[in-house]
Amino acid sequence: MYYGAIEAGGTKFVCAISNQQFEIIERISIPTTTPTETLHLVFKFFDQFPLKSMGIGTFGPIDVNKNSGTYGFITTTPKAGWGYFDFLGAVKGRYNIPIAWTTDVNAAAYGEYKKGSAIDNKSCLYLTIGTGIGGGAIINGEILEGHGHAEMGHILVRQHPDDSYKGVCPYHNNCLEGLASGPAIEGRYGKKGYELEKNHKVWEMEAYYLAQILVDLTLTIRPEKIILGGGVMKQCQLYPLIRNEFANLMNNYVPTPDLNHYIVSPGLGDNAGIIGSLLLGAETE
Ligand code: ADP
Ligand code: ZN
Repeated sequence: MYYGAIEAGGTKFVCAISNQQFEIIERISIPTTTPTETLHLVFKFFDQFPLKSMGIGTFGPIDVNKNSGTYGFITTTPKAGWGYFDFLGAVKGRYNIPIAWTTDVNAAAYGEYKKGSAIDNKSCLYLTIGTGIGGGAIINGEILEGHGHAEMGHILVRQHPDDSYKGVCPYHNNCLEGLASGPAIEGRYGKKGYELEKNHKVWEMEAYYLAQILVDLTLTIRPEKIILGGGVMKQCQLYPLIRNEFANLMNNYVPTPDLNHYIVSPGLGDNAGIIGSLLLGAETE
């Protein structure tokens, strides 16, 4: 028997199975097209294996409120064909096994908590800075959620004095995702992040925006570890810039762990989401 997991992104779905030790045995990547087409290929992959459980970590927003009529749905996504799609229902209809249902970033936070950078901690926060910005937190083994899941990428930020860019978020303009996501970098400079020099002004702006959110979330959640992943964080020079800016903004108001060990990269690298999903599935009744 295997554990199964789906990490569902706006561009691709990663499907994987693991052994009892959560070592990935097989994985495939499927382009995200329509729900029918994509799930057809997802099922074709998983149908080959006897599965004990399934974990789904998906792009959103999604409904995680068990009392809601649309629990298990992807909700207001602008992605064509996926709005109000009953994703969990479709997978449940195919496999009569325990299935975990959460966001991609909650799953990644859980993976890092159990097997990655936060393995020795009781709480952690995970943020991805990529096409979008999202975040999730684990506190004493539980995913932080209430009426819905966290939407940490849409917290408003103070605009950098040298930044007149209006932002890419159609809802807020000057939220973190609006000003600091991969598309915001590209929209501001007409070039992708990896085409800009390592000492470009943009990285100082990125740090300015990300540090604001990390201060806000530190003051709200007081996590033991903050893990930053996603395509934009491949620019490793960002970590020290963010730590510096964080120290400036926090101004020693509350103690945090040493910043070199507090604001870190994912120990599981790009596998945080899929491993977290495998673990969450396995722990579901
Ligand atoms: P997604 O968010 O779509 O799941 P990623 O986390 O890889 O995928 O994020 C993609 C975004 O990150 C794109 O906007 C891309 O331009 C940007 N990006 C990817 N690699 C790098 C890099 N090495 N440096 C800067 N930006 C990058
Ligand atoms: Zn926003």
